[in-house]
Amino acid sequence: MGEETIAAISTAYGPAGVGIIRISGDEAALLADQVFKSKRGVKIAEQETARIIYGYIREQDGRLVDEALALTMWSPHSFTGEDVVELQCHGGIVVLQKVLEMVLKAGARLAEPGEFSKRAFLNGRLDLAQAEAIMEMINAKTETGVSAAANHLQGVLSQEVGKCRQAILEISAYLEADLDFPEEDLVRLSKEEISSRLTEVAQKISKILQSFTEGRIIREGLKVALIGKPNVGKSSLLNTLLKTKRAIVTDVPGTTRDTIEEYYNLGGIPLLLIDTAGIRESEDIVEKLGVQKTKEIVEQADLIVYILDLSLGITPEDQVFLEKIAAEKVLILGNKIDLMTEEEREIERKIKEKLAGYRVLLISATEKIGIQELEEEIKNIFFTEGREIKDEVLLTNVRHKTALEQAQEAIASAQHSIGEGMPSDFVALDLKTVLDFLGEITGETVDEEIINQIFSQFCLGK
Ligand code: GDP
Repeated sequence: MGEETIAAISTAYGPAGVGIIRISGDEAALLADQVFKSKRGVKIAEQETARIIYGYIREQDGRLVDEALALTMWSPHSFTGEDVVELQCHGGIVVLQKVLEMVLKAGARLAEPGEFSKRAFLNGRLDLAQAEAIMEMINAKTETGVSAAANHLQGVLSQEVGKCRQAILEISAYLEADLDFPEEDLVRLSKEEISSRLTEVAQKISKILQSFTEGRIIREGLKVALIGKPNVGKSSLLNTLLKTKRAIVTDVPGTTRDTIEEYYNLGGIPLLLIDTAGIRESEDIVEKLGVQKTKEIVEQADLIVYILDLSLGITPEDQVFLEKIAAEKVLILGNKIDLMTEEEREIERKIKEKLAGYRVLLISATEKIGIQELEEEIKNIFFTEGREIKDEVLLTNVRHKTALEQAQEAIASAQHSIGEGMPSDFVALDLKTVLDFLGEITGETVDEEIINQIFSQFCLGK
């Protein structure tokens, strides 16, 4: 292998029961033996793979630093595929940094972010999509997100992409044989057969691509912007949903100076709730900043929850605002229903009439009326009921999406060449492009630069 031996703290920074220093490379055992002394006086380097040794971290002069366990994972049976030693020390920041320093002094190099995973990829322990799933797993915000990441880690996406690649490879093989031995009496695929096989692959890719909206929401969260004029109850609703006192609730219009963003777990779907500074034009500079931001948020949001104060009805400002956004993107909430008397309920009917074509729910943010219906409504807008992630492909990564779209375009171009009766080498060339794009996902055909860029986004020690 000949790669340098690398080391890093692999656990999170902060006080914890246990903290792990991971060392990977040819000299992992040798370096670990310089800082770790087993109680029984045995050497790490002499152990078999998958052993746990109890002992101490000691300075050169024998001074005790920590009590620790050393775990052995020899090549190829380790995460990186190289020799790996993990030192399980106590999880204090200072002690971990001290032990890491000692390992580095012994001759290891500090691992770059994602370098362990990169080595795992380069040594064929994982494909690129699986390596990316590690970060997806670490960053998952809900259990559903964990399930989706676990599927990717298991290689569900890679397998599907692999099947598409295989089908294209087969067609290419027929075309190549045809090009190389035009005179020979070979089994050939008719144009129609090639075209229909390509259509099948294209349909498979389309199906994977369709899962992206849901996949992205599961990964990044559904962006829901809470918008409404000052004092209609945006912050109160946010508080009710989050069951905390994160946003300040007051009677003074426009106290939400900037946006407040919070993740909220809606039955397994992370909801990124954005509370904004209202839409009223104002001379207040701070508030204006907030207003500009509101406009940006409207553009970025998956759903706009527009809140009205029922006691005020629909104001001209509300109307101006609502006219600017597509009705499908809006859910209107008539808030403060608790303040309305029976007679006033007539207003309710009128409001619903006025807002025909919109989704409307009447709620009370402070009295928690209609909150469950609100949650159900949001879920139903985006998800099929009782959504559970099984062994299915769910596209969550933009890089994968782009590669699939490009593969799709190359298939269309091949179909076009076939339709136009172009020579086989044109079709073969397009299919080569399809293979390259599909290979980018799993990493068979990807630039080193892209690989480096992907792994640099990983956290330290992973
Ligand atoms: P924001 O400016 O839109 O964020 O509005 P706030 O959440 O700060 O609410 C403004 C005022 O309306 C506060 O006094 C809240 O207690 C009150 N409020 C909000 N929602 C309700 C509701 O459902 N019923 C009643 N009675 N008062 C509410």
